[in-house]
This record gives sequence, C-alpha cells and structure tokens, in this order.
Amino acid sequence: MKDLGFVIFRQKSGKGIKPHVFVRFKSNEGKLLTFSVDTTRTASTQPQPDAYLITHAHSDHHGKSAMLSEKSWCSQETAKALEIRYEKEYKGSVFELGKTIEICGVRVQTFDVGHTPGSTAFFWENELGTKILITGDVKNPSLLPKCDVLLTEASYGDPNDPNCHFKDDIKSMRQIILSHQEEQNIALGAYEFGKSQKAVSLLREMGYAGPIAMNEKALSLTKNFVQNAGELVELGGGSYTGQIRAVSRSQTELAARIDGNRAAAQTRIYSYSYTEVSAASKSGSCGISIVPISELASFGPETRKYVLTCRSDYPFENIRISDHLDVDGLTQMVKDLSPKVTVVYHPDKSPRTDRFAEHLEKSGFKAYSINRIQNIADDVKINNAV
Ligand SMILES: [Zn+2]
Ligand SMILES: [Zn+2]
Repeated sequence: MKDLGFVIFRQKSGKGIKPHVFVRFKSNEGKLLTFSVDTTRTASTQPQPDAYLITHAHSDHHGKSAMLSEKSWCSQETAKALEIRYEKEYKGSVFELGKTIEICGVRVQTFDVGHTPGSTAFFWENELGTKILITGDVKNPSLLPKCDVLLTEASYGDPNDPNCHFKDDIKSMRQIILSHQEEQNIALGAYEFGKSQKAVSLLREMGYAGPIAMNEKALSLTKNFVQNAGELVELGGGSYTGQIRAVSRSQTELAARIDGNRAAAQTRIYSYSYTEVSAASKSGSCGISIVPISELASFGPETRKYVLTCRSDYPFENIRISDHLDVDGLTQMVKDLSPKVTVVYHPDKSPRTDRFAEHLEKSGFKAYSINRIQNIADDVKINNAV
C-alpha cells in the first residue's frame, strides 16, 4: 500500500479502536493529509484528521458524532437526514451529490451509490496519481470509476452464506400488497432511514394510493426525500397499537385504493383520530404501516407483519428487499473497478468482512479486511508512514 502512496490506519479511542479507518496520503501540493472515513470524532488528545468523510446517515457509519465537527463532509441529503435523526445541527460542509469538491486542496469526486438518499462514494488521486475510491454501503455501483485502492463494504459479503445471495423480490411485495385481505392491515418492518423511504416509493409505484402510517422521524425523512410520497400519516407516539388495529373493510374498497382511487382512502384518513382508539375503530384506520422492526411485534394478530430484509433472523415473514449488493454484486463491482488492492472496511468486527476479503483473495484480488489492519495510531509513527 505504501508504494501506492496511501496508508490506511485505525486510531485508538477511549474504549478501544475507532470504528472505521483513516486514510493518509500526500496531496498534489505535497501536503500530508489524513481523511477519516465513517469514524467518530477524534479526541483532542489524539492526532486530528484533516477531514471527516461521512458516506451516509446510517448509525453504523457514525455521522452522529462526525456531524458535530466543522471538518466533516457529506452530501446535502446526508446532512439533512443526520439533522432529522439526531436533532442536532450539522456543523460541517455539504455538497451536491455527483459534484466534484475541494477538500483541503484535494479535488474529490462524489458519486451516488443508491444505498440511501444522499449515500456517497468519494474518489480522489494522491500526488503519485494513485486513485482511491471509498464506496460506503453500496446498492448501485454503475456510476463508480475504476480505481487503484478500493475501500468497500461487505454487509452481505460471505459467499458461503445463503443469505448473502439474493435478488430484490419486488414481485412478492406486489403480490402481498394486492392480496391485502379483508380485515387485515399490513405492517412492514423497515429501518427508519433508507428502507422506509424505499418502501413508500415502491408502494406508490405499485399503485397503492391509500395512506401510509409511519413514526414521526420516518415520516419527516420520507417527506424530505421521497417525491410523490402521497398520503402519509403519523402514528401516535406510543399508543398507536390500538389505533391501527384492523377495521373491517370490504375488498372492493381495498381494490379501489390499490387502483388509485383515493376518494375512499381520503374520507377515512380525514376522519381518523390519532388519540382515540374508539374513533379509529369507527371511522377506519390505515391499511399499511411502516415501522421499525422492533415495533412489529406490538401489532395485533389481525395485522399481517413482514420485514423488508434479506436477513433471516427475524421472527416474521421476510420480503427480500435490500439496500445492499449481495456477495455476487459486490464481487462483480470489484472486478469492474479493478483495484490493485481492496480494503474491506465495513462492517467492522463482522466475520462477513473477513470472509469477503478472503473470497476476493481466492478470486485473484489483493484484499484486506479492516479486522487485520495492524496500523493503530499511537502505536505507529504515522507522520513517517507514507
Ligand atoms: Zn448503510
Ligand atoms: Zn453500513
């Protein structure tokens, strides 16, 4: 890696090691720079990075911490999502996704990877002309440029795990929505940011025109990031289980909603009460709710419950919809980008990260897992390492 002019290292934190990685290199101007990738802020007692790159607003990429540094960089969408999710002001710099930006004098290109609204890959060259690409979590790699050093993820990176081989099952989702039974509401379990917005878009594309109920934050994120989201209803804080209990409705009515006839749905929604269960029971309730997976169990037996995931460890039926590439997609991406070396940097502490790196090695690529990175700042003289 040193021959390429990049050093990838990790940094100590109070509790152990910081979650993701630091990239150290010399810029065209000969300046030695350190960009932190998806890590929490560095304590003032430690050597400080020149920039924090935040790929997207999922919690395991630590924007919650990095957003409070003026040295942080992320897309406008990511900044907005972080502010909504954590109710704090984003202190760093933002950019329009897809544009080239300048960070500490380095021209950095940004690319949309289709994982969440605003999810970004970062790409730049060092003084030797070596090209580095950091994908973050990735769903759509089609815009990404070829590179020499690739930092990527392996959320579904174990080739021997059947759960890591999947195709999005839009067909099943459509069937479930269309066969929406009398006296049965549907609750879809999905992450608040990313998956919930995707679910709303898919439901609308499928022609479901009725109201969709969500928690306050998911609702706010959806309003900000989904165009033509249609009728969205906020689930009452804490006491919604009773409110969304199924209310008997005829199949014709339901078919009307799915056919895009919003009249019936609208009558229902305007007379819907958020606070009184009895009122909801009388006047109707939402047919489809999207909630965090942990809240699915609180729905009554009359609600059909599904998780939008490719994982198999939830006690509910799955609809296989993912915001990630599966292992075949990840492998194909590496082939297409043809890096000299790949660092699998996420998720840290996951066996999948190691297994994907091993899989790449077997497929003829030079690859390291983050779990094998021995360079830990404090232990190495990073100033001399490039
Ligand atoms: Zn993510
Ligand atoms: Zn992630």
